[in-house]
Amino acid sequence: MKSGYGQVIILTLVFLVLVLNLVQLSTGAEVHTPEEEVPLQLVGSSGAINSLARNILLSRTEELLLPPQQTVVAQKPLPELPDLVFSGTAVDKVAITFDDGPFPGMTEQYLEILSQYGIKGTFFVVGELARQNPAQLQKIVEQGSELGNHSWAHGRLDKMPLEKVVSDLRRVAELIYETTGQEVRFLRPPYGRHSPAVIEAAEELGQQLVLWNVDPRDWDKASTREIVNRVMAQVRPGSIILLHEGHPNTIKALPQIIEKLRERGLEPVSVSELLQSYGEETT
Ligand SMILES: [Zn+2]
Repeated sequence: MKSGYGQVIILTLVFLVLVLNLVQLSTGAEVHTPEEEVPLQLVGSSGAINSLARNILLSRTEELLLPPQQTVVAQKPLPELPDLVFSGTAVDKVAITFDDGPFPGMTEQYLEILSQYGIKGTFFVVGELARQNPAQLQKIVEQGSELGNHSWAHGRLDKMPLEKVVSDLRRVAELIYETTGQEVRFLRPPYGRHSPAVIEAAEELGQQLVLWNVDPRDWDKASTREIVNRVMAQVRPGSIILLHEGHPNTIKALPQIIEKLRERGLEPVSVSELLQSYGEETT
């Protein structure tokens, strides 16, 4: 009997230790969550994008404060958090962005819709595709939209050393400048994956990291209706919407998204226009 009690006590202790460890883990260590699960709003509500947010324009709170590769003690104060959380009243605009192009015959369709509604967007292009399709690159700029950097070959920048990231991003920026005369101001790393090296490279090249907080997963066999509904379910004032080039359903969804945003009092704009409106807000 006595040894039986002993076993129960030991098992209880082991169980308690396990539970405590789990609690510690859940409060402190790993706060990174998959992209699609956390559509959190995040910008410097003061308009001045503060030091922490300087290179990550929009992101989820935990990613911005705690890079995924870092573990953090739970008690550690979260610096400048109130300043980073969007007040919800700053702007009536949302940025509309298109990744992974350009594609001949399709980029034109996106641009035509934007023109019909008098809108500019931000196209994060892949260097290789941009080199193959310089005409589409030029059309984006002629339409009034802007180009962003989406890496040379849609690779995992977060797995590359600093020098490689710099040369990759510089190559895209040079191609864009030579083809269109437009200086690249924004970087969206493929899959949103960034590392300290990616952030440093972006800083070195004067490109601001732009993630997103509305993701309808339009590339993932989504129907037109699903794309529209997901965008409208996630969007808030100041959001950055992630859409993709090369998808017929996205093209079909685009006019509906624009109209529904406007019904809600949200004007779709490019990333730099969104940034500009923050500037206006504070001056
Ligand atoms: Zn991409």
